[in-house]
Amino acid sequence: MAELLKGKPVADRLANACAVRISALLDKGVQPRLAIVRIGDNPGDEWYANAATKELAAAGVDSFVIELEGRTPQDIVVHTLKNLSADDAVAGILLMRPLPAHFNKEKVENAIAPEKDVDGMCDVSLAKVFRGDSKASLPCTVKAVLHLLDFYHVELEGARVVVVGRSLTIGKPLVQALISRDATVTLAHSKTLNLSQLTREADIVVSCMGRAHALTGEFFSEKTVVIDVGTNEDKDGKMVGDVDFGAVEPLVQAITPVPGGVGAVTTASLLEAVVSAAEYLTIENS
Ligand code: NAP
Repeated sequence: MAELLKGKPVADRLANACAVRISALLDKGVQPRLAIVRIGDNPGDEWYANAATKELAAAGVDSFVIELEGRTPQDIVVHTLKNLSADDAVAGILLMRPLPAHFNKEKVENAIAPEKDVDGMCDVSLAKVFRGDSKASLPCTVKAVLHLLDFYHVELEGARVVVVGRSLTIGKPLVQALISRDATVTLAHSKTLNLSQLTREADIVVSCMGRAHALTGEFFSEKTVVIDVGTNEDKDGKMVGDVDFGAVEPLVQAITPVPGGVGAVTTASLLEAVVSAAEYLTIENS
């Protein structure tokens, strides 16, 4: 039976560490505040925005959501993000993705000031990640994966890691972050041949492919640590991961559940990023 890598204790530890920093900011008269920008009516975005707002409020961090219609012209979105970037009362900006298909992603994402980019999406943030800058603003999901691995003392130095999924939101920055931690990383995607052979030989498999229950027992060995980032709906509308948990859990060394694994740490990582952004602004403005 595998060790269950639950997200809640990791998130609790992060929130506790943030509490001290938030109280230091409040003592200086600084209220950390996050602006969340949602475009269109994706129910997943609404769920995440609500969960984030609730968790931040419980920690003493303000947040507000700007909801824009899916048909909002790109210029208005860019203008909104630039205004938030210039607003001293806003420490961090989270733009929900994916963006509507007709948008020029690069233009929209780069309208966020790098120092307020709490989900590591603008070019400056990505360049820092690829340079291996330890202060780079990583996407919250990537940070959540690293926090989970560290909390459960999973050794990264020299470990063979397979990341399945090459999006700029998760897979690619995660690979860079893992390389910076001295792991030996293989990035797999939908055109990868013999995926199960690669994953079976890995010490750690991180799946961020967004395919419900696509990874079954044959993809793993008894020594694999499995990190399942996927959040997908199964045919009954239930949230499930990329990994077939029921079949895989008895076979591997350790595994994250879905829900209750990476996702639980992602909102805590967002909290941490907003606190860091507020601290940075305070130093800049002093
Ligand atoms: P995405 O942009 O759709 O990227 C999916 C990646 O998976 C692509 O690179 C794709 O390859 C690859 N892929 C798809 N099918 C594959 C297959 N059969 N074999 C190997 N690779 C395959 O998705 P994303 O935005 O990165 O999100 C991935 C998952 O993470 C989703 O389920 C999303 O809901 C979840 N998510 C979770 C959290 C959390 O906190 N837990 C946060 C954000 C997102 P190609 O490039 O070749 O197409």
